[in-house]
Amino acid sequence: MENAPTQTTLATPAQYLPGVGAIRGGRLMKIGLRTAGDLLFCFPRDYEFPAPPSSVDRLREGQSASLVGMITDAEIVSRTPGKSVFAAVVENETGAVRILFFNQPFRAEQITFDKQVMISGEPKLNGLRWEFVHPKVVLLDEDGQIDKPKILPIYPLTEGVKQDEMRRFVRSAMDALSESLTEVLPVELRDSATAALRDAEIDLRLPLPEIQAAIESIHWPADRSDLTAARTRFIFQELLVMQLALAMRRRRLTTELRSAALPTTPKLDARITNRFPFELTTDQRRAMHEIGRDMGRQFPMNRLLQGDVGSGKTVIAIYAMMLAVGNGHQAVLMAPTEVLARQHHRTLSGMLDDSRVRIGLLCGSLTSAERRETLQKAANGEIDLVIGTQALLHGIEFKQLGLCVIDEQHKFGVRQRVTLRSGGVDPHYLVMSATPIPRSVAMTIFGDVDLTTLREKPPGRGKVNTYLGRPEWRQRWWKFVEEQLDEGRQVFVVAPRVNAAVSDESSRESDSADSDQDEAAGDEDVSSVETIYQQLSEEIFANRRVGLLHGRLSNDEKQAVMQSFAAGRIDVLVTTTVIEVGIDVPNATVMTIMGAQRFGLAQLHQLRGRISRGVHPGHVCVFTDGSQTAEEFERLKVFETTADGFELAEADFRLRGPGDVLGARQSGLPPLRIANVIDDLEILQVARQIAQQTIDEDPELSDPKWAPLRKQLMRRYGHRLELGDAG
Ligand code: ADP
Ligand code: MG
Repeated sequence: MENAPTQTTLATPAQYLPGVGAIRGGRLMKIGLRTAGDLLFCFPRDYEFPAPPSSVDRLREGQSASLVGMITDAEIVSRTPGKSVFAAVVENETGAVRILFFNQPFRAEQITFDKQVMISGEPKLNGLRWEFVHPKVVLLDEDGQIDKPKILPIYPLTEGVKQDEMRRFVRSAMDALSESLTEVLPVELRDSATAALRDAEIDLRLPLPEIQAAIESIHWPADRSDLTAARTRFIFQELLVMQLALAMRRRRLTTELRSAALPTTPKLDARITNRFPFELTTDQRRAMHEIGRDMGRQFPMNRLLQGDVGSGKTVIAIYAMMLAVGNGHQAVLMAPTEVLARQHHRTLSGMLDDSRVRIGLLCGSLTSAERRETLQKAANGEIDLVIGTQALLHGIEFKQLGLCVIDEQHKFGVRQRVTLRSGGVDPHYLVMSATPIPRSVAMTIFGDVDLTTLREKPPGRGKVNTYLGRPEWRQRWWKFVEEQLDEGRQVFVVAPRVNAAVSDESSRESDSADSDQDEAAGDEDVSSVETIYQQLSEEIFANRRVGLLHGRLSNDEKQAVMQSFAAGRIDVLVTTTVIEVGIDVPNATVMTIMGAQRFGLAQLHQLRGRISRGVHPGHVCVFTDGSQTAEEFERLKVFETTADGFELAEADFRLRGPGDVLGARQSGLPPLRIANVIDDLEILQVARQIAQQTIDEDPELSDPKWAPLRKQLMRRYGHRLELGDAG
């Protein structure tokens, strides 16, 4: 048996807190509340505000309400032991109500004629008279002053722990701990933050409180201003710590790491861009300019290039790689899937056909001898560019690597740096993403990354029409598809799962945000590619060439299907989200998405991007399988009406919250506990600005006054952002 420790600390197991005990401690543990500190920082998800006093004519059955009035009648109606009834009448200028208490005869002493009271509870209509059974009664003083009713915390709960228990447990942790808390925000910082927040027009009546008061107020606020001040403090603190960490990392990257400078010259620039068979867009030119400038420096470029699907990110990657090669260095391009790696290989081989650039491809279907040979050549410097999937590039060595490009980064996470150092220097990094993040959000979450955005699309793109299909339209839609096929177009049909029996693969292949599909497959399953393939190939498009593609095929099979489709030998391709990423078939202009409610907005938009590549207008119709929730339907409506990826991203952030959209995997950062980068954007901007100033003045936060803050920063971000460990 362990003994209960005498001195409670943040790390004391919750079960040792007065009033908790082993059994409830066990239940708390199950919901992740292990220690007294966990309880203390388990902030309410909401609050119950006492309803302002109402009037009798506004009462509604079953809706809780409060009334202030005078007791005009009070009597014990029945004294039968075990069945006693005490009744009273509360009256004010708006009317009178009856209050009743069963088996609480002592009430008669408290609630007496002529007293001012405030009652609250759920009224019920009995005949023509409103009644409150067992209301909460607060006695008011002479002037009718209300003895302040408390704002109640509402904690996030799971099974096994009741709200009032939680309130007691947290209270117990507060009583045991709050005096021993360390303040991480020095008073001058709180004051300057308060001023800056007010300048940013955040409604902050009280200054940011110190930690002990803040803890008290966030759990048991005295009033709304008190609550706002406490919440703002914790939100600010959380964001400040994050921004300090990002600012610190950004500074370290530029001062401590070294890269080869790979400068651009007008001649080199012209030699590269002359290879592109089209006019570059202004955005593309700007991106190349920014990348050229970054790569000319002696510390690593760390740039995120985001652009909607089809915005032409690949040429930017080629440009950057050619800059490296032109400077006598090697470059590597990582793709999230084999299909995409091969496509890049084709594009690059085509474009660099008549040049001296040597390109290697690392993919699954190589024999181990071939693979060894490519690895050898990379190490010897006999090839200049290597393209492959991340897994296959693991552990590769280069003679002189200058640049690492990561395509479709939302599959990887921005900060998953691939340690590919060679010759003691770091390569430059360019990560590309088609999942647009609203600029304000990106700037703050990726505070350590430079950002280039391609907003403009290359000219000559067909517009994509999006329809939210009703189940009864399906036949009509297939007829329309038939017409498009007659005109020579090709068609995608996308579904979330491979077959009806086994759960889908999209959770494996999609980003974390979209991996929440459930397993249940309905009787008439229209969400599996195998069922749909059968239906289409045998009935609806029996006289067309229908192909099937999904992640369970071998790489060679997948490759063969993709090539047939690209070459026009398949008319209708039934597929899972394997085609989501980057596939370029300009003649494919029609897409049907089945079981569409299972996809996230970002993913739907990615899919739609597959059919906006040619000159013909695109058509995408999304069908649900009928099991969608109202929220999912809402999402599909947003998809139908919003064509712009950035707008869509913003809507997604609003609908689902950034936590879900980005997830830890996307941002590479731990989830925020109380702050929300959309709702708290203004606070975030203040935090960012203060963090930047602070790091400019004291890059490593070495002044003793920052010690507690620095410790918190290292604990939360030290490992993830490679800043050092908690120590
Ligand atoms: P994404 O940003 O989705 O990766 P890609 O780089 O695959 O987009 O480009 C989509 C298509 O647009 C490709 O076929 C590419 O050759 C073409 N493209 C890129 N830039 C231009 C341009 N400036 N003018 C015309 N076509 C372009
Ligand atoms: Mg691409």
